[in-house]
Amino acid sequence: MEKSFSIPISRRSFMKLAGLTAAGAILGGTSDTPKAEAVAPPTSSVDFSEADLPVLFDADVCVVGGGSAGTAAAISAARKGASTVLVEQGISLGGLQTLGCVFPCMPTYADGSDTPYIVELNQRMEGQGVPPFPGYDTENWYGGGRVQYGPEYLSLVYDEMCEEAGVDVLYNATLVGASTEEGKIDACVVQTIEGLAKIRAKVFIDGTGDALLSRFAGVPVEKGSEKTGRNQPMSLRFEMGGIEVGKVYRFFVKEMKDDWMGPKAAGICEEALRHKKPPFLEFAKWKKTEKFFLDGVTRGELTQDDILYIQAFTIPSKPGVMSMNCPEMPPLSFSSTDAVSKSKSVTFGRKMTQRLAEFFVHNIPGFEKAYISREASLVGVRESWRIRGKYYMQADDYFKAHHFPDAVCRTAYPIDIHDVKLDLFEKLKKGQYYEIPYRALVTNEISNLLVAGRCASGSFAAQASFRIQPTCMSMGEAAGIAAAWGIKHGVEANAIRWETLPKNERSYVSEG
Ligand SMILES: Cc1cc2nc3c(=O)[nH]c(=O)nc-3n(C[C@H](O)[C@H](O)[C@H](O)COP(=O)(O)OP(=O)(O)OC[C@H]3O[C@@H](n4cnc5c(N)ncnc54)[C@H](O)[C@@H]3O)c2cc1C
Repeated sequence: MEKSFSIPISRRSFMKLAGLTAAGAILGGTSDTPKAEAVAPPTSSVDFSEADLPVLFDADVCVVGGGSAGTAAAISAARKGASTVLVEQGISLGGLQTLGCVFPCMPTYADGSDTPYIVELNQRMEGQGVPPFPGYDTENWYGGGRVQYGPEYLSLVYDEMCEEAGVDVLYNATLVGASTEEGKIDACVVQTIEGLAKIRAKVFIDGTGDALLSRFAGVPVEKGSEKTGRNQPMSLRFEMGGIEVGKVYRFFVKEMKDDWMGPKAAGICEEALRHKKPPFLEFAKWKKTEKFFLDGVTRGELTQDDILYIQAFTIPSKPGVMSMNCPEMPPLSFSSTDAVSKSKSVTFGRKMTQRLAEFFVHNIPGFEKAYISREASLVGVRESWRIRGKYYMQADDYFKAHHFPDAVCRTAYPIDIHDVKLDLFEKLKKGQYYEIPYRALVTNEISNLLVAGRCASGSFAAQASFRIQPTCMSMGEAAGIAAAWGIKHGVEANAIRWETLPKNERSYVSEG
């Protein structure tokens, strides 16, 4: 079984090398109170309340968006007895995890963060032959993301889990509107192969990542940095096959001789190599590697944009394949909240991909016979719109490791902003973590709406921490449980007090 191996170029050290300033000025201390720039104007929509459209489903719970958060929400709601429909525009569940080729699942750096859904998903992935991530229990890599999710396996496992739980999955259905009445969503409108249709439900969960359902329902949202107005940069991820990973490893670690993780990690890698299991390599300051890519720019094989962020991981269970966490389309040129710009970023990113792949083939030993084996079918959006919910998470929640009685999960994943001018990556001390309160998943405006995943309520900086997959899944899990519980007990979603649910009904109980 192949283990994971990454060849990162640290954008932080690269920026130093390139003479750019890692300003780190995003927060201005820890205060990131929203300014006008971040408040997004209302989203244009059509009033569908009187529209005579066929009703495809009349369910207890309707989840829109089958990403990591939405899928967890749908499965969790159905398991608690709610009739549940899950609307997804693509033909795979997982969102960025699968359609976006986002691999691997990041650690939360918070012991005890795995909620029951994640524990089960990990077990199921192991059952598919996807092993625990190497080094998971080390000092550097712990909490969440123990098992890595190869896109193809994950799509299958999600389908199975939905089938078993009785979730009605509606693929190839795009949310185009919602009708609201007296502070409640009455129906959402989807476009399918048959045309427009309504889905009625008692409770709706927004898992679109872009807060689209919330925006259609009139919930206030923000987008981008409070300081610059820019969204986090997007990536167009891809995979390459036909790689001799051992040779790649030897080139970077042996020949380049970079002091990339200190002697301990080097020892782990030596051991792994001896057993012919290419190891996972952590982030590091790879000065020679950076020069290696910069030389590619000098020779005209790559552009400065191409080398802003290069990172690759081997994929357990896919021998000879590496998942590229790049190219990253320059954030000064493209925006994830501008439809035309987002579309243009795809063409731009695809050209970057071709240049990178060619560069790898011609310059990195082990890539001689490599080829692009998969391109993401979903643009890698790190951040777009975020709701303004009952609780608004901020950088201070992270820095001061805030805990909440109504917490639905914990994480200590750093504030990870990829913007060249806003770079900031500061870890909490080991053992510290913050929690995400249930109130960050509900709104003041719409009583039967929950919002889970990367578009939950929080500032630009806070979202840069809670956006990772394990945390999105745990939020979704709690949203699904709460939705079903509220229906059963006649409590509106935004009036539920998570801390009053019996402990054994909750996916996460705060230790205070
Ligand atoms: C390039 C990149 C690298 C990343 N790297 C990592 C990493 O290494 N580890 C990690 O843990 N996290 C990583 N992340 C973050 C993480 O992958 C995401 O934040 C997380 O997966 C978001 O999950 P989500 O369910 O909130 O949203 P998404 O995954 O975006 O899911 C939203 C879903 O809603 C669907 N949808 C959207 N609009 C509609 C509509 N109108 N109608 C119907 N369906 C709709 C989409 O098709 C999609 O399936 C990365 C993100 C990016 C972009």
